[in-house]
Amino acid sequence: MAEVRTKVLEAVQVADNVVRLDLAVPEGTSWKTGEFARVALPGASESEWRCYSIATPTGSPTIGLFIARVKGGAVSPKLCSLKKGDELMLDTEMMGMLLESRLEEGGKDLWLFATGTGVASFVAVASDPAITEKYENIVLVHGVRTWNETQYVGHYIVKSSKLQVMACVTREKGALINQRIPDALSCGLIEKTADIKLDPSTSRVMICGNPAMVKSVRSALKERGFVTPRGGRPGQMLVENFWM
Ligand SMILES: Cc1cc2nc3c(=O)[nH]c(=O)nc-3n(C[C@H](O)[C@H](O)[C@H](O)COP(=O)(O)OP(=O)(O)OC[C@H]3O[C@@H](n4cnc5c(N)ncnc54)[C@H](O)[C@@H]3O)c2cc1C
Repeated sequence: MAEVRTKVLEAVQVADNVVRLDLAVPEGTSWKTGEFARVALPGASESEWRCYSIATPTGSPTIGLFIARVKGGAVSPKLCSLKKGDELMLDTEMMGMLLESRLEEGGKDLWLFATGTGVASFVAVASDPAITEKYENIVLVHGVRTWNETQYVGHYIVKSSKLQVMACVTREKGALINQRIPDALSCGLIEKTADIKLDPSTSRVMICGNPAMVKSVRSALKERGFVTPRGGRPGQMLVENFWM
């Protein structure tokens, strides 16, 4: 573990409850697309460090984070109040499960399922040409409560003709999908909307966000033959929970 001081280069409110921070990359620091970083306010105790997925691909000029302001949370409201020029502590040893290299080779469709700021890693994954060039289609399914929470994805993600971004908006009408991700998946609406089948022989999947969504989607896909990597063997599905 190497804890260093870094600076907030940009702090932007991107949704009612989400702030985007762009941090300076300390010299010698690198990360893989899909990894997360541990950060803390200067002077914080060990229990006040928190993990945030890096929303910028490897080699980017900033470490981009999307931070949800958790009501009553000990740390996130303070991080959401940071301003340009403020200092933040960063653990330069990045890690994470959502590494495309862990997926079995040979997939043609990359599916990314996220709720809320769980979309952060996938903004990086879908913006990394070294990953996107391997796939014919990339489908990002983003579960949110309100439209307001969907807008920043389109602003930060690198758009391409391969990419479909599908919002599942649960508390406001008017979306193509107005259901929770697990429900829209089980009734076939997600595949119908994408016009692509989820099949372990052709699809590769990453899932990130709230544990209920992660658990439901993971078990629905397991029933259809998707497995997570185990014992050095690559699988077709990767998962990361924001909390237990
Ligand atoms: C690998 C990993 C990556 C993460 N990446 C991100 C990220 O990119 N963006 C992000 O906003 N958070 C992310 N988190 C969650 C983050 O680490 C903190 O848990 C979150 O910011 C709450 O911290 P807090 O101190 O405010 O809340 P605490 O006082 O620690 O309370 C934690 C509780 O807040 C709730 N909670 C945690 N995260 C969220 C959330 N995102 N939305 C709603 N409720 C939540 C849960 O009920 C949890 O039990 C990630 C967590 C992990 C483990």
